[in-house]
Amino acid sequence: MFRSHTCGELRESHINQKVTLSGWVQKTRDKGFVVWVDLRDRYGITQLVFDEDRTASALLDQARSLGREFVVQVEGEVIERASKNANIPTGNIEVLVENLTVLNSSKTPPFTIENETDGGEDLRMKFRYLDIRRNPVKNNLIFRSKVTMEVRKYLAEKSFIEVETPYLIKSTPEGARDFVVPSRMNEGQFYALPQSPQTFKQLLMVAGMDKYFQIVKCFRDEDLRADRQPEFTQIDCEMAFVEQEDILNVFEGLTRHLLKEINGVEISAFPRITYDDAMRIYGNDKPDIRFGMEFAELNDVAQHKDFNVFNSSELVVAIAVPGAASYTRKEIDALIDWVKRPQIGAKGMVYVKYNEDGSYKSSVDKFYDQEDLAKWAEATEAKPGDLICVLSGEMNKTRTQLSALRMELASRLGLRKPNEFAPLWVVDFPLLELDEETGNYHAMHHPFTSPKPGQLELLDTDPGAVRANAYDLVLNGNEIGGGSIRIHDKGVQETMFKHLGFTPEEAKAQFGFLMDAFQYGAPPHGGIAFGLDRLVAILGGQETIRDFIAFPKNNSGRDVMIDAPAPIDQEQLDELNLKLNNIEVTE
Ligand code: ASP
Repeated sequence: MFRSHTCGELRESHINQKVTLSGWVQKTRDKGFVVWVDLRDRYGITQLVFDEDRTASALLDQARSLGREFVVQVEGEVIERASKNANIPTGNIEVLVENLTVLNSSKTPPFTIENETDGGEDLRMKFRYLDIRRNPVKNNLIFRSKVTMEVRKYLAEKSFIEVETPYLIKSTPEGARDFVVPSRMNEGQFYALPQSPQTFKQLLMVAGMDKYFQIVKCFRDEDLRADRQPEFTQIDCEMAFVEQEDILNVFEGLTRHLLKEINGVEISAFPRITYDDAMRIYGNDKPDIRFGMEFAELNDVAQHKDFNVFNSSELVVAIAVPGAASYTRKEIDALIDWVKRPQIGAKGMVYVKYNEDGSYKSSVDKFYDQEDLAKWAEATEAKPGDLICVLSGEMNKTRTQLSALRMELASRLGLRKPNEFAPLWVVDFPLLELDEETGNYHAMHHPFTSPKPGQLELLDTDPGAVRANAYDLVLNGNEIGGGSIRIHDKGVQETMFKHLGFTPEEAKAQFGFLMDAFQYGAPPHGGIAFGLDRLVAILGGQETIRDFIAFPKNNSGRDVMIDAPAPIDQEQLDELNLKLNNIEVTE
């Protein structure tokens, strides 16, 4: 028996008991006549004691020779500590060791296994198994496990069935590139790894499974943006015989269940906002509504003077920044530089200080009088002491720019509080999105999403205006889930593919199996998928999803621990009948 107790378990009630513990040596303190060792496992730390009076000298020497991260087993007696440590749950006791077995030695770890470590990100990723021994990382993984357990509990209780779908499949269109896997047995042919189990979960509805879920890996070969992972986990769900309202209710319930069980927060009905309103009021389809700073469109009250910048703009739009009228000239200039950075791309920014005394001071005093500025203040609901920031230009671009400014200022002002949760549904998304470069429309969600009732005809005349039965769940400015009511009619699905630029042959080749299935009694159905990594990070009050993934990839999509991706042998290439052009196969 390696242990009778864990290292986090012993209390004063165990005093005088003989126990066996196993774990890692966190640290050793040698005072000469007495040696203390902190023994650690997943559950906590127990202090071991060896001393000249009570410990055989060979055993004392053995204790002295222990290095950091040695794996040891000890037998001994639980005793009361002379000097107690109120900071840890085992702080009132220690174990007087009678027997010590070194189960394994350890090289000195490349960084300290402490809450605050001296190891940089790269080093910690290379030795992730050591990083996971640290409390912050370990606790995040435990937290994640707790979240997934609660997800399963809630969905099982609602009669969902967990079904595994294959990883070696054919392309599913979620808008990214596929990772592909060559097939040795089918020369020249490739599997694609699923970007999501979308088509399979729809087939499970045709199959009569009624309520499906899966906590599942998805793979998307995207150019890596900060904190995106090429493989990530979804809570993927689908239900038959449902309308949008049914889906929103069930999954609002799931989110509420998690917030309550995990965070102890009770939230009443989630607000709903249409996509158009979200764009108009927040310039963003995943608005953070923990703070105000809602957009006010100023065209009516700002385009009547000789200020050409505004007069020639499609949109003049502003936010009131609480308490920021006290910003110095230098601070405001820095803000203007910030919006002019290429990443944001604004041409400039007009500002109005709404002074505490009720007067206004603006960067456009030459054009606008106090009465004009008062109207802007009214529109933005500014209060004395606020700073009104105004951007102008082409509508969509300007909204995006002001949204970026709104989020930046909210972060700077500490308004994005990690322990405050503000979920909302964004509904009525456009069905199609115009690709500015190619001039083609593509599905905003995916090609299986149904248009709103009665809008199918609009596809021919005004495709951009067609709204979809599609919805996103947004939490604290992050899209944590998205889904739709699906097309379940073969003819409608064919029409949809046509509008997306597929020839009938292409559609059949790629999705014939789904359209065939629709001929055998496909029920009305719909679903949603949550991004588990991000959801867990937000519930955990953090932003970085990598911190909640046991073995994440870095920003270049590499696993630096196992060193992947990596070249493969010529022999393997030959077996797969693959020829690499212009690539030196190294190693
Ligand atoms: N498959 C979709 C996605 O991955 C989610 C859904 O429509 O259920 O975003």
